[in-house]
Amino acid sequence: MRPVVDLLAELIAIPSVNPMGRAAGDAATSEARLVTWLLAFFADLGLPAERVAVGADRANVIARLGDDPTRPTILWDVHLDTVPADGMAEPFTPRIADGRITGRGACDVKGAMAAMLWALQRVVHDGTPPRVNLVFSASSDEEATATGVHALVECWGRARGSSRLLDRPPDGAIVAEPTDLQVVVAHRGVTRFRIVTHGRACHSSTPDLGVNAIYRMARVVTQLEALAARLGEQIAPHPLCGGATLSVGCITGGTSVNIVPDQCAIEIDRRLVPGEDPAQARAAICALVGAAADGEVCCEPPWLEAPGLRDDANGWLAERLLALHASDDPAAPRRAIGVPYGTNAATISCAGVPAVVFGPGSIAQAHTTDEYITIASLERGAEIYRRFLVE
Ligand SMILES: [Zn+2]
Repeated sequence: MRPVVDLLAELIAIPSVNPMGRAAGDAATSEARLVTWLLAFFADLGLPAERVAVGADRANVIARLGDDPTRPTILWDVHLDTVPADGMAEPFTPRIADGRITGRGACDVKGAMAAMLWALQRVVHDGTPPRVNLVFSASSDEEATATGVHALVECWGRARGSSRLLDRPPDGAIVAEPTDLQVVVAHRGVTRFRIVTHGRACHSSTPDLGVNAIYRMARVVTQLEALAARLGEQIAPHPLCGGATLSVGCITGGTSVNIVPDQCAIEIDRRLVPGEDPAQARAAICALVGAAADGEVCCEPPWLEAPGLRDDANGWLAERLLALHASDDPAAPRRAIGVPYGTNAATISCAGVPAVVFGPGSIAQAHTTDEYITIASLERGAEIYRRFLVE
């Protein structure tokens, strides 16, 4: 039995940095070593585990505890990857001091991974019969394009048979993210894409001979600003996670001051309330900007698109976690919450499996150069995961 703190220290020391669109770098920063480590961990524990391919060169790890048809089957999902470690002195050397463990991934989300592994290990060692069948999934690529969770839900969808340990939809799912041990039942979705206007280049001394793509984009941006202001009236906000939003975050265009630009591009971030269809939200924006730019505009495919997490079917899972937490901690939260960030839970929920988000550590420390988790939160999370399995 390894203590949860030791498990987390080991996980931090295995870099699994997501290249986030940059050059993938050396193998030491990929997820592959963590995949190998997890397969060895489950082999040691005597639990069946397997690698499920995600695209050509990545993988999810699926493991399983129990296969009793009279019990519900619950999925635990936790992502393998971390954000890059730029600006951190020793990101992969875990430091344990002042009741904290510091290092890249400590809270997002290797802390919760260690807590889940500890709970499984403890239940196997104790020989306590679990009350649920548990499928554990360590999913690839959450921080960039979420290909791992898409491969995961395909295990009971179009790619049925790709995992022998997960060939039917589970009854519910807990997705690990640093929620500070709050139970998250709703969050917003997102679509991010580029819009490009086209024009005709010419010398800037005779601009009337060309068509200025930046002027076209200016009309597009004005329309988007007006749309952003109207969204709150058009789409009812969600009581737990707020309203739909739209933001233009980047603009690039032109090559030189003496050339009328033939191209200008912007990047859009549109946040969706739970239940909104991302493709429809994107189509509405594209229709609006088409008119503003005389049709000389193109909406590129999104590089990130995910629905929000709906709270209409996951109440029973939330109740269970809240009850476990409250049974021996009077300060435990009494009510589930919504959050402003996205998670794998939305994709799992859209694939027909009620999902909540729950884990130790605080989102305030995620993606920072001083990423840490408190040992108290880590140990408490591990114990709640354990009790979820056996009580
Ligand atoms: Zn995360």
